[in-house]
Amino acid sequence: MKKIHPRFDITGQKFARLTALYYKGSGVHGAMWRFRCDCGKEVTRRATSVRQGLTKSCGCLRLRNLRPRQDIPSSQELLNPRKLHPIVHELIKARVAKKITQEKLAKLSGWSYGGITNMELGRVNPRLGMISDIATVLGLTLTLGNSDG
Ligand SMILES: [Zn+2]
Repeated sequence: MKKIHPRFDITGQKFARLTALYYKGSGVHGAMWRFRCDCGKEVTRRATSVRQGLTKSCGCLRLRNLRPRQDIPSSQELLNPRKLHPIVHELIKARVAKKITQEKLAKLSGWSYGGITNMELGRVNPRLGMISDIATVLGLTLTLGNSDG
């Protein structure tokens, strides 16, 4: 049995997110290699397209780049406490619990819809006046000062 050898040995070499694992053989499209992507997925790709940078990942990179910018977050994202000020987090929880949309909250509080979404996404530091108005709409009491936790 004749052992197969690649024309270019790229074992262990890394191209963008793909690391060459082993040679799979040559097909009509040239040498095929097994690669491991940075995300952990293993894929078989044409060596030439990977070496030329035409293929940069298992496909995860492209999927992420193509993902549309989301201005309206899902409720799961809204409840994700990352970066959010604890007060803002409480306001979101109260709003979701009361089934009030951001749009409705904007009308009730007198603040802009964009201002409320930006605050809930943690894009802007919340303004005290805004927090106070929203808290009033949601029936929350704001306590200022040191908290004992
Ligand atoms: Zn990947």
